[in-house]
Amino acid sequence: QSAADILRQRIRTVADWPQAGVQFRDITPVLQDPVSFRLMVQTLVVRYMPQHIDVVAGIDARGFILGAVVAHELNVGFVPVRKKGKLPFTTVSEEYELEYGSATVELHTDAVKPGDRVLLIDDLIATGGTMMAAKKLIERLGGAIVEGAAIVDLPELGGSALLRAAGLELFTLVDYA
Ligand code: IMP
Repeated sequence: QSAADILRQRIRTVADWPQAGVQFRDITPVLQDPVSFRLMVQTLVVRYMPQHIDVVAGIDARGFILGAVVAHELNVGFVPVRKKGKLPFTTVSEEYELEYGSATVELHTDAVKPGDRVLLIDDLIATGGTMMAAKKLIERLGGAIVEGAAIVDLPELGGSALLRAAGLELFTLVDYA
């Protein structure tokens, strides 16, 4: 059994949450189980340890949990990409469209230095809007993204294809068609 198979078995699907028609992929059971939590972290650590990474950026909120542990294991720093209004220092911010309305993510202006090699982490890619906005923030500060990594991809929503078309290298572990 591959790591991806084991994680797939742990990920929980919740129907009609947060609204009717949505199949929410919930990674909290992966975090809750020490073996699958370790497997998820180690898969990313083994992939990125041989590469030169300066900093890990994790996306609000499950990207914080995964990203912080991976950063710690890689012995590099961690910076949070947060939803609007949460970061106390000066920020760059990026607005993006949602199905209904819009959202904004922010990054501290000193989180990434020009030339930094950044690993960008979130739990899941759906439409790709969130990771695309995070990519723009990092690039506005002069960072170079080594790869975007997520546990789950929902390829039918087109986000991963969009991100790749925008030049982002992407690594995902479990796809749901
Ligand atoms: P996107 O911007 O449409 O790609 O949505 C991705 C963001 O929304 C990520 O930060 C995810 O944590 C969150 N998200 C969207 N759909 C799901 C889901 O089914 N499960 C968990 N998180 C989701």
